Amino acid sequence: MSTERTSTVVAIDGPAGSGKSSVARAVARELGFQFLDTGAAYRALTWLILERGGDTDDEATVVGSLEALASLELTVDAAGQRVAIEGHDVTEAIRTERISGAVSGVARTIAAREAVNIRFRDVIAEARPGIVAEGRDITTVVAPDADVRVLLTADEAVRIRRRFGDVGGDEDQVGARLAARDASDSQVVDFLHAADGVTVVDSTDLTFDETVDAIVRLATEEHHD
Ligand code: C5P
Repeated sequence: MSTERTSTVVAIDGPAGSGKSSVARAVARELGFQFLDTGAAYRALTWLILERGGDTDDEATVVGSLEALASLELTVDAAGQRVAIEGHDVTEAIRTERISGAVSGVARTIAAREAVNIRFRDVIAEARPGIVAEGRDITTVVAPDADVRVLLTADEAVRIRRRFGDVGGDEDQVGARLAARDASDSQVVDFLHAADGVTVVDSTDLTFDETVDAIVRLATEEHHD
């Protein structure tokens, strides 16, 4: 492969519950690459706003929180990404349904997207020997020139079931929240349809390992071009 970049970039987008995060991490481990979960930055800002008693639906509040991005720590270790903001380790705290329910307000604030994208592009540019980055707009906005671009999908019923397995609670409620978050998020970026040059991997009928293999194969083939 002849590109000027010395590292390989694998971009993976998809809706909530598609298994993106675990799949992307496993792909990174398999390839010996770094791993970037971009949703973690949106979640960390959400955590901070709620911690300060703010409302993520208020644009001025979201914009006011962006100075805290200077303190955002996002490790890119495929063994497990650590997330900290303003000195608080929020790795676990950002995974709650409370954060998932409030994060879309941050995601729809354009200034927030622009600010985190600068960080993501820096991380991707410095990655060695490669990086798997996952989110909603990696294949289209953050790294449209990535070597491998994948849209990871699964039928909504399957995604709800997988998500339910992760968070528990009431399955109808989990389903309603997941659908609401996708509906809100998809108004900002289209991660439900593959852009030109993006390969769709539909994991509805695939096991976890089969899904990882499919993406690793794409990355390996790309390498041999
Ligand atoms: O992937 P995850 O569920 O952790 O993402 C949390 C939220 O962050 C998403 O629901 C979406 O609102 C936002 N997000 C985004 N663009 C990305 C990654 C995440 O808007 N690249």
